[in-house]
Amino acid sequence: MDKFLRRKDSSSRTDDEEPSTSVTKNLKKVVKRKYDEDYIKYGFSWCGDETAPRPQCIICGDQLSNESMVPSKLKRHLYSGHPSCANKDKQYFKRGA
Ligand SMILES: [Zn+2]
Repeated sequence: MDKFLRRKDSSSRTDDEEPSTSVTKNLKKVVKRKYDEDYIKYGFSWCGDETAPRPQCIICGDQLSNESMVPSKLKRHLYSGHPSCANKDKQYFKRGA
């Protein structure tokens, strides 16, 4: 019974699509990655919009895209670009390279 009611409701909703519903869809689709304090150990700070921060390398100042806000990509930048800093600890980066 409950199912029937819901189906009826959703079919009537498609007739008059409100802008608010499409906004909700967009939010679900585009996932913005947040900066994690832990990323400092990869030598990364962040810059730009707080809702869609971009990782910024403390060592060379390079800015990566929001999609690169993942440990594996930050680590790759650090290991390939700055191998000499790869085994530094958080405190080293916090102080500023
Ligand atoms: Zn760098």
